[in-house]
Amino acid sequence: MRVGVIGAAGRMGATVCAAVVGADDIELVAAVDPAGVGRTATPGLEIVADLDALTAAGAEIAVDFTGPGAATVNAVWCAEHAIHAVIGTTGIDEAGLAALSHAFPSAGRIGCLVAPNFAIGAVLMMRFAELASPWFETAEIIELHHDAKADAPSGTALLTATRMAAASDGWGADPTQVVVVPGARGGSGPGGIHIHSVRLRGLVAHQEVLLGTSGQSLTIRHDSYDRQSFMPGVLLAIRSVGQRPGLTVGLEAALGI
Ligand code: NAP
Repeated sequence: MRVGVIGAAGRMGATVCAAVVGADDIELVAAVDPAGVGRTATPGLEIVADLDALTAAGAEIAVDFTGPGAATVNAVWCAEHAIHAVIGTTGIDEAGLAALSHAFPSAGRIGCLVAPNFAIGAVLMMRFAELASPWFETAEIIELHHDAKADAPSGTALLTATRMAAASDGWGADPTQVVVVPGARGGSGPGGIHIHSVRLRGLVAHQEVLLGTSGQSLTIRHDSYDRQSFMPGVLLAIRSVGQRPGLTVGLEAALGI
């Protein structure tokens, strides 16, 4: 498999380049990032500014870790050049997803896989929380991230709550009558599920889902300790994107869950 990485000079892009180079069945043939021109992605492969490097090198699959606006434009370009796209860039809105769905028709030959979280453990955590939801009446989500994260709550916490809310309509009401410190109960997310965002120096990306019912509770926790946590999921997406024409959102289908 011949792969090009877009955003190759970024934190995630550089990690993906190294993971691709380390995989026996995948070859890194192009590295694109205007911010990295003049540097190498791996010995012998220069980072260039232009997407044309993908076609020039015969890339079959492009992996994008850039920004939400750029990722959509890049993927549409890939569709026009018959290159499968794997997108890890977060923050792609409904309009962006609609553009991707249009560019990658399911009746076509080219696939696009967008996953807001490539950590396989985090994907499983969301699925486990969804499965457990009908059996518990109360739930709270605590997400914990490094102290440079600008947004709260995390997209993963919000998606977890959305899926839990859809999996059960039996959530108990919040009993809180008096709030002494504003925000003490966190934010009320989908289904009234409370989400608490912790920002702490030294952390990376972590989440706990707490579920409670009479006499018992269940805690589901996932921890990403560094960017390596995303690489098995990225490699899985690279290996499977060509088998799924059209737009696929999330890693679940590739994992068979
Ligand atoms: P980063 O270090 O800022 O890297 C992004 C790189 O892409 C930068 O070098 C940027 O250059 C470059 N870029 C911007 N527009 C481009 C374009 N049109 N063509 C080519 N390159 C372009 O950010 P990061 O930490 O690697 O994160 C990248 C994205 O991955 C974010 O959206 C982040 O939320 C997401 N992410 C996803 C996962 C997941 O599991 N799905 C995990 C971690 C992070 P400039 O600096 O010049 O803009």
